Amino acid sequence: MEIIMLKYGEIALKGQNKRTFEEILLKNIRYRLKSLGNFSYSRMQSTVYVEPKSEDIDIGLAVEKLLAVFGIGAIQRSLVIPKDFEIIAKEAAPYLESSLKRAKTFKVEAKRADKRFPMKSPDLQRELGGKILEAYPHLAVDVHDPDVTILVEIRDNGAYINSERITGAGGIPVGSSGKALLLLSGGIDSPVAAYMMAKRGLKVDAVHFESPPYTTERARIKVESLCEKLTAYCSEIKLYCVNFTELQEAISDNSPEEYFTVIMRRLMLKISNRLCDNNDYHALITGESLGQVASQTLSAINCTDKAAAYPVFRPLCGMDKIEITNIARKIGTFEISSLPYEDCCTIFTPRHPKTKPRLIEVEEIEKRFDYEPLIKKAFSEIEIKFFRF
Ligand code: ATP
Ligand code: MG
Repeated sequence: MEIIMLKYGEIALKGQNKRTFEEILLKNIRYRLKSLGNFSYSRMQSTVYVEPKSEDIDIGLAVEKLLAVFGIGAIQRSLVIPKDFEIIAKEAAPYLESSLKRAKTFKVEAKRADKRFPMKSPDLQRELGGKILEAYPHLAVDVHDPDVTILVEIRDNGAYINSERITGAGGIPVGSSGKALLLLSGGIDSPVAAYMMAKRGLKVDAVHFESPPYTTERARIKVESLCEKLTAYCSEIKLYCVNFTELQEAISDNSPEEYFTVIMRRLMLKISNRLCDNNDYHALITGESLGQVASQTLSAINCTDKAAAYPVFRPLCGMDKIEITNIARKIGTFEISSLPYEDCCTIFTPRHPKTKPRLIEVEEIEKRFDYEPLIKKAFSEIEIKFFRF
């Protein structure tokens, strides 16, 4: 039988509240594997043991899904067989084929937790090493710096042969830091921001502003596909779609063109504030990156930030486009984000946006029009959709 061992990442370093993190992690792991069949779960020494309960479970697929679970530092598959040297010797070589074929050197490391096992660890290491050499004559033993270390553990309930350690998603479990609201456009950046903050334990829901008929149904579908993709990391996402048309028209009728973007961004935040008030979100997340475009200069960010009633997390702030794009490719959002359908920002984009807007000026301009009734109306018409992994 093959099992999966999940080693904690950062959680291993937690003190008093380690248990809370462990419980959230375990819940997330169960949720992720639910569709694959029955598993049993146990915990020991900063490791979660995941054991399939039937033969037909696809362990490879389970590992693939677990690779997106934050809080897991490393993943290791392990073959569990009877504690009999003949069996160990027969099973180890074929089980480890893929890593041993690629390697030039190896060593066997044995751990004997069950002292009733008749061979001592050094004997087991030597004897098994011999069998491996017979099966793969191209290999050489190197006890100091081997390409592959074969770890064999003799435990109470069987002998464990461990395969290669795969690096996990890292971070801390989704939900262990609370809930936050992501401003999700259809672009490349904001989905990456969601991934990064989920990695820090936030349960992320999203708000999207659209301006039909200036924006099309396709733009909406694009944002929904992004949410679907993100559930691999975020588990569940609630998406709020706000109709922003009248507000955008009001901005365009009542402010100088160069201020459109910054005022629009501030109104987005004001609506997001209310969503936070009513739904227990304690932070906002955006995909802004310092200096990327005119609306993301320090002055513009300062003006936008002042409209927020909650901390605004901008995890991409210090990253360049190449770094952001690499993550987008890794998490599978890049292709969707690259579809051409425009979101609401592009439509009213000023030809020469103000790169150094001043807050007093912006507030002065905003006073020329009473946005409050339109904000209320947009808020009352919000559409909600759920996405589950
Ligand atoms: P992205 O690639 O995420 O669209 P961007 O580089 O295009 O970002 P902007 O258009 O300036 O940058 O948007 C900055 C941030 O504002 C976005 O990352 C997103 O968090 C938020 N935002 C922009 N447009 C919308 C929208 N239509 N709905 C929700 N949030 C939005
Ligand atoms: Mg955008």
